[in-house]
Amino acid sequence: MLPDVPAGERAEVRKILSWLDGKFPVCAGNCWMTAQAVVLMAKDSRVQYVEGVSWNVKQIEPGRYVPLFQHDSECASEVCVCRPLPHAWNLVGGHIVDLQGEFYNWRFPGTEYLHEPLKTYSLEDLPVGGVEGSILQKVWMEEHHPGLVNPEDRAAICQHIFKEASDRLVAREIVRRRYDG
Ligand SMILES: [Zn+2]
Repeated sequence: MLPDVPAGERAEVRKILSWLDGKFPVCAGNCWMTAQAVVLMAKDSRVQYVEGVSWNVKQIEPGRYVPLFQHDSECASEVCVCRPLPHAWNLVGGHIVDLQGEFYNWRFPGTEYLHEPLKTYSLEDLPVGGVEGSILQKVWMEEHHPGLVNPEDRAAICQHIFKEASDRLVAREIVRRRYDG
């Protein structure tokens, strides 16, 4: 489907990823490993791995988006689908290819994902065999928080690491809440 690639460039992107057809399982829930595996398997300098945030939104008019998921009152949670969430995807020939996002878009027709990158990796930047999760988070954990961490804390830490990209995305998009005016 390639929703983030301009129509005229889709054929080229498909060609770069042609080896992937039917061979590659997009396993739900682990965008990090899926996107890293695409780079490790492609071995093609045009295919890169990106960590950042994505935001599931719907367009209400051209250029104006609202979060797909929102609450009637202020959201109390730091880690919530109403905000941009840490995510990984690929750049192919400079275009966003989000296999995980496409997978989820099949479930929520009429919505889209906005992406904001925090760090882009080429094949040679990736650890051999990849990392089980976010590379930025792994590096941060090794520096700041060695040892075991329970899953809720992990999610909060991940949100914290990607806060810069998340703030940038929210600031960039004109988001008109339903309850404004
Ligand atoms: Zn929320």
